[in-house]
Amino acid sequence: MMTLKMRLEDLVTSVATDLMGVTAPTLHSAQAELLHQLVDYFGVDLSFLRRNDHELGATILMAEWPPRLEIPDPDPLGVVYFAEADPTFAATEHLSSVLIIRPDSADDEYQDRVRKGSGIAGVSLATVPLMSSDVTMGVLGFIKFGDREWQPDEINALRAVAALLAQLQARVAAEERLRYLAFHDELTGLATRRALSDHLAQRLKPGAPGPVGVIFIDVDRLKALNSFLGHAAGDQFLQTLATRLQLAAGEDHLLARLGGDEFVLVMTGPADEASAMACAERLRRMANEPVQVGGEEISRAVSLGVALGQPGASTVSELMNQADQAMLQAKVRGGNEISVFTAAMRRQNEIRTDIELHLVTAIRNGSLVLHYQPEVDLVTRRITGFEALVRWPHPHLGLLQPAAFIDVIESTNLAGELGRWVIETGCRQLKAWHAEHPDRLIGLSVNVSPAELITHDFAQSVADILFECGLSGEYLTLEITEKAIVRDTDQALTTLRELKAIGVKVAIDDFGTGYSSFAQLKSLPVDGLKVDRGFITDLGSNPDDLAIVRSIISLAGSFGLSLVAEGVETDVAAATLVALGCNRAQGYLYARPMPAEELGEVLLSALRARYSAP
Ligand code: C2E
Ligand code: CA
Ligand code: CA
Repeated sequence: MMTLKMRLEDLVTSVATDLMGVTAPTLHSAQAELLHQLVDYFGVDLSFLRRNDHELGATILMAEWPPRLEIPDPDPLGVVYFAEADPTFAATEHLSSVLIIRPDSADDEYQDRVRKGSGIAGVSLATVPLMSSDVTMGVLGFIKFGDREWQPDEINALRAVAALLAQLQARVAAEERLRYLAFHDELTGLATRRALSDHLAQRLKPGAPGPVGVIFIDVDRLKALNSFLGHAAGDQFLQTLATRLQLAAGEDHLLARLGGDEFVLVMTGPADEASAMACAERLRRMANEPVQVGGEEISRAVSLGVALGQPGASTVSELMNQADQAMLQAKVRGGNEISVFTAAMRRQNEIRTDIELHLVTAIRNGSLVLHYQPEVDLVTRRITGFEALVRWPHPHLGLLQPAAFIDVIESTNLAGELGRWVIETGCRQLKAWHAEHPDRLIGLSVNVSPAELITHDFAQSVADILFECGLSGEYLTLEITEKAIVRDTDQALTTLRELKAIGVKVAIDDFGTGYSSFAQLKSLPVDGLKVDRGFITDLGSNPDDLAIVRSIISLAGSFGLSLVAEGVETDVAAATLVALGCNRAQGYLYARPMPAEELGEVLLSALRARYSAP
């Protein structure tokens, strides 16, 4: 053939370039393609690539060119054990330099074998080792029927190609190892989060069979086990649990460990609520079985959340979140429970997402409003003040109560911004009331979230607002919860002292629901308590509530604190409060929170006279 031949150096360069992009899935075809190229280039008849498996003690055929037309089964050239191999194969086990055999060379035995096996008289063989450090990883071989002389520069080029192949094998093996680690959890051998999302992505493709059942599994109180028995025990527990969960589910369900004590099971085949619940129940029972850890018998409950995904409709993260949310629901219900993701939870999610998206804008463009609930004197029946309560007239969700968005505010660092707006708006309104009724200066209570209280110049910003509105601090009461004080006691105390210095009053809201403040109360610079409505609503009929309210009233008395009862809904509750000595109250019995304009003349005239419910 008179084709223009590439120079040897260029051949090696082009091989190097070709092999660069090869990965495990393309390794086989790339190797065959390379042998093809080399057979053509060097004008030989056959080429082969073999890998040495030193653990197995064998040489394994990786690629050959041209492909044989018929391959016997088993293939005598496939896996050849060195111990049973003929001398030529056996020599490749630790081959470290190029081996050339030619028809007239001394190795008559080889030529005889070839003649017997193939009927070809006289072949040339060149075998080049693939070296990694001192280990022979395999061989690259060329056969020419008849005689062929190999030039030194040709042999050098073959050695270079063999080195490239050895590098390629090592690289692909390393990549495979990394891939394995990324997809298999080290502790339990289960699938990892990544393997799980790959699998779920496949299962949720449009047209795939569904629904896809996902079960989120969370061990209850594993932390306690870790701190009690040590992490090694915790690990051992998780390993046993993993094995058991897989056993309970069956081998063909994909079980993954997300890390920590969280597992996720993806049910094989289409699922429905009944089959998913049944599967979750099997997992729950199995998890409850005691485990032997370091001579101790440990048993842990698990909380499970079930969600069903629709291929083509649900995304991986949606489905995982749903199962997670259902699991949290199971935890809230006390643990060792199973919950299914419901339409109500979906609705809650949508609302939360909507709220998260639009809340900042709502605060900044003044879409929020304040409602005011009167606080009355139970004896004189006069209004003594108002509590400002925030509302959000949402464009399509209706009037939202704070419960729907206060959480979001706390978790998105909007507390400061909202708080400033509430205090400012409330103070302006109060100033307007004072202007209308200068002879009866009432007070205003504003709720302050825990996050706000511990922000740096909180007291200063309150002082600024009061100054701008021209209000004296004595008319403003800030309501804080016990949580706020517990969260960062030092900063909270500093702020409370600063507030005292600017003349603002502070009351502890929802009093009686925390644990700490009975003891702390003495040292706290606060002016009053608001008894939680949980104790007030059933005050007439519940003897426990009566006992608690009585002790709170006497506590307030001995510390000289003012007292307001909230949640007064019945006459009997009001009468009981008066009998116990608490005169100030708030509640639906008197008025619900209302916008300032609805409070109107009627209600405001009550400031002058005795108040009677409209
Ligand atoms: P809170 O400070 O304990 O407010 C009293 C809640 O009890 C108000 O609910 C009020 O509408 C309700 N309430 C009043 N009287 C009765 C009654 O007789 N029976 C019953 N069942 N409930 C009554 P609302 O307005 O939904 O506020 C809930 C919570 O949201 C408040 O609890 C407060 O902690 C928080 N909040 C409200 N406004 C603000 C605000 O501007 N900033 C901050 N940080 N939190 C706020
Ligand atoms: Ca309050
Ligand atoms: Ca309260």
